Amino acid sequence: MPRFVVQRAANCINCGKCERACVYGAHKREPTDPREMAEPNSNLCKNCFRCVVDCPQRALSIKVNEEYRALGKDLWTPQRITTIWNEAESGAIPVLGAGYRGDFAGPGFDAMWTDMSEIVRPTRDGIHGRESISTNVDIGRKPPLLSFDGKGKLLTTMGVMIDLPVPFLLDVSRLNVTSNILRGMAAAVRDLGTLLVLRADSINYLDGTIPAGMMVPVITNVRDMDRISGEVRLVEVEHSSAWRADVQGLRDRRPGSLVGVRVRSSTELEFELDDLAREVDVLHVLFDENGRDGDGTYVRDSLRAAHRHLVSSGLRDQITILSSGGLAAAEMVPKSIICGADAVTLETALLVALGCRACSTCNEDCPSDLEGSPGDYVQHRVTNLCSSWRDQILEMLGAMGIRDVRRLRGETGRAIFQEDAHRDAFQGIEGGERIE
Ligand code: SF4
Ligand code: SF4
Repeated sequence: MPRFVVQRAANCINCGKCERACVYGAHKREPTDPREMAEPNSNLCKNCFRCVVDCPQRALSIKVNEEYRALGKDLWTPQRITTIWNEAESGAIPVLGAGYRGDFAGPGFDAMWTDMSEIVRPTRDGIHGRESISTNVDIGRKPPLLSFDGKGKLLTTMGVMIDLPVPFLLDVSRLNVTSNILRGMAAAVRDLGTLLVLRADSINYLDGTIPAGMMVPVITNVRDMDRISGEVRLVEVEHSSAWRADVQGLRDRRPGSLVGVRVRSSTELEFELDDLAREVDVLHVLFDENGRDGDGTYVRDSLRAAHRHLVSSGLRDQITILSSGGLAAAEMVPKSIICGADAVTLETALLVALGCRACSTCNEDCPSDLEGSPGDYVQHRVTNLCSSWRDQILEMLGAMGIRDVRRLRGETGRAIFQEDAHRDAFQGIEGGERIE
């Protein structure tokens, strides 16, 4: 979808100067009648205004495309949506920033910048050089310490640990998707080697697209566990007043699986954090699609508070924290990890990859026709999006001089927060009456 629309007025004399002016090929003559200029192809326009300046008739004008301006809402800005579309189309890293005229700060993750100082070091080989950068993450519970007997034999029992090649899982448990989309997402998970989080009652629609070990079923009743394959390595249960009994029930039924609890972030969470960290293997913290919790606090601040709390309790290293919601751009993945997550799950971005416009409400007049998406289309678009995001994470890690994404967890010292920068710059400076 073009961001700008190029229009040719009726006073055009078909001189063809615009065709010569536009190096992007937006202006062409009519193939059937070369005496006439064809309608400008706004999709090719880069908004350089050269044709407008060169036109002797002042017949050309450029305006913002209203359809583009109407895309998305809140966190899901038109630029983020079209960027995801391009990433899903090409699998490539987007080139943004040239001539950027937008804001340099905003709410949530937009008020946080990463320290890219290593990007200027001339000895670096870049992400495709000889220095390996790992995007692998571990999902599971780690012992607080390792014990050995007098002969150096390890005494500590290690539990299940899932090693993922990328720091994100795909999560369709909060999305309304057709069985075709579900199978397409599963095929993408197989390509990427990550995990698919889905409601337990959706498993039958997968028709064996992926092995059970790549699924993370979300269970509403612990008895459902009896119908789930023994190969499943991680199950999740929704947080409720009975979460302890649910966790115990799941452990009794499936001692070899990891157990996670999905909990909506709120200020109340802090009171239960320590108990949750002692009982569960994975704490899955949920935010809304705009990256806020029930109290309106952004992911950035909620995650940092939870991480700091668990560090001070000495429990942080033992559990895995997943964060869901409000991930509208690749840079938000490492930012979530810096704020304290081990990994994230992608949700709305997966639908946007298929053409969703993240409208304020879904309705029957949906222009994206998501329901008609064939499975292989879903598989390729989602794989492309994730590949592009993974490459962007690599670029960020390289520019930060960090060789392992796991080292980024909780590294707030490698980020700049707007309020800190503001305080450092303006502390002690106060406005006053102007003295003539
Ligand atoms: S330069 Fe102006 S007058 Fe000439 S063909 Fe283009 S729009 Fe028409
Ligand atoms: S503004 Fe620039 S890129 Fe757009 S049509 Fe005119 S010459 Fe081509």
